[in-house]
Amino acid sequence: MSPEYESPEYQLQVLNPATEEVVATVPGATEADVDAAVVRATRAQAQWAALAPGDRARLLRRFATAVDEHLEELARLEVREAGHTVGNARWEAGNVRDLLDYAAGGVERLTGRQIPVPGGLDVTILEPLGVVGVIAPWNFPMPIAAWGTAPALAAGNAVILKPAETTPLTALRLAELALEAGLPEGLFQVLPGHGPVAGNALVEHPGVAKIVFTGSTAVGKQVLAKGSAHLKRVTLELGGKSPNIVFADADLEAAAAATPMSFLDNSGQDCCARTRILVQRSAYDRFLGLLAPAIESVHVGDPADERTDMGPLISKVQLDRVRSYVSGDAEGIRGKAPEGPGFWFPPTVLTGVDPHARVAVEEVFGPVAVVLPFEDEAEAIQLANATDYGLSGSIWTRDVGRALRMSGAVRAGNLSVNSHSSVRYWTPFGGYKQSGIGRELGPDALTAFTETKNVFISTEGPAQ
Ligand code: NAD
Repeated sequence: MSPEYESPEYQLQVLNPATEEVVATVPGATEADVDAAVVRATRAQAQWAALAPGDRARLLRRFATAVDEHLEELARLEVREAGHTVGNARWEAGNVRDLLDYAAGGVERLTGRQIPVPGGLDVTILEPLGVVGVIAPWNFPMPIAAWGTAPALAAGNAVILKPAETTPLTALRLAELALEAGLPEGLFQVLPGHGPVAGNALVEHPGVAKIVFTGSTAVGKQVLAKGSAHLKRVTLELGGKSPNIVFADADLEAAAAATPMSFLDNSGQDCCARTRILVQRSAYDRFLGLLAPAIESVHVGDPADERTDMGPLISKVQLDRVRSYVSGDAEGIRGKAPEGPGFWFPPTVLTGVDPHARVAVEEVFGPVAVVLPFEDEAEAIQLANATDYGLSGSIWTRDVGRALRMSGAVRAGNLSVNSHSSVRYWTPFGGYKQSGIGRELGPDALTAFTETKNVFISTEGPAQ
């Protein structure tokens, strides 16, 4: 490690968001550390790619097993460093395990094609890219790290993961588990560090072939611009301002019951949060009448308590940001949140909001949604698409034709009808418009970490 590694300037302080207590102080990587990591990763990648596919798959499955055996420990660590409810944190650790298993199943199936051509045989070969940099945000530290890492490793690449400043601990533990499971030294490295230092160094490093970035749209644009100077492959998973569209013909009880956790899960710090609730005017009053008790009954508190639905925000910075969107006299529905230490904000649904107001168009990334009425399908589509983002959305209706028409008309990468589900490791995920570039997860996840080489073999004999 470089001499500056331990210096306070680079250090990261991890706070428990529910108590504001210091959980750990972690050294942050410098540019020199990134250089050294790329050297190690390049060496490890060559060994890894030379292994038989079945052996790579077996090692990834062992890694998955190691994660499973440490699931509760990883979950408890996530509760402490990110304030996630323990139920969510268990799901997140389980998601890493499942992603590794799923990706391992693709190793032997990552095949090229044979394409008919005259005069010979033409085949395509899928080769690994080399070293992949994964830059992760703090809102889902484990799953998002694994979305990039698992398929990249399965396709024969090495990975350098830079977790967010506030949440490096589960990532560091995952790297230890990878080594214990037998993955080669240097193949999966975790470099905690500051975005503009360690993250930027990964983006600018000529030895890193691809960057998988998940985070804010503002930083994502910088990453794309800097990466393109090296013609680096860049995928971006960015912000969202997703609609939850409720038609009057929907099962309103079910829609209202599902609405709170569609934007309060993970305290609203979810890129897919349905923070614009669009309700058909003829059902508006009835829907709000059903929604109010559902919001008020959300239990906000200690994330380590099994009964808690929603924990704190990640940091003071995030709390101040969320507060800036909600004035004290705003009309709507408010839930309850603890007082005292911790970064708490109550569940909040705002009514009577101008559709152009900041809170109605910007990503708040907190437990705040707005309700906007609409008249008919045409206005629902217009409102749903009146955003720079296009990540997710939900459509509630009993009319199948309408569900299909709306699914076609809403410009977003992940829609769900009569539900709010959007992320499964075996289905593709990604955004339209300013929500991102590229897709992750799903059946094509490994291919996104390969180069396609075309080889033509002539069947003509050598010239006589
Ligand atoms: P952020 O953009 O501030 O940081 C994300 C990561 O980028 C962190 O690791 C950070 O250290 C790093 N970074 C910061 N500056 C950098 C630079 N100049 N060069 C390279 N890396 C740099 O985002 P955040 O606040 O951590 O996360 C919240 C955002 O992430 C929200 O906008 C949310 O919508 C988005 N997000 C999107 C998805 C998705 O899949 N679309 C998923 C989760 C979160």
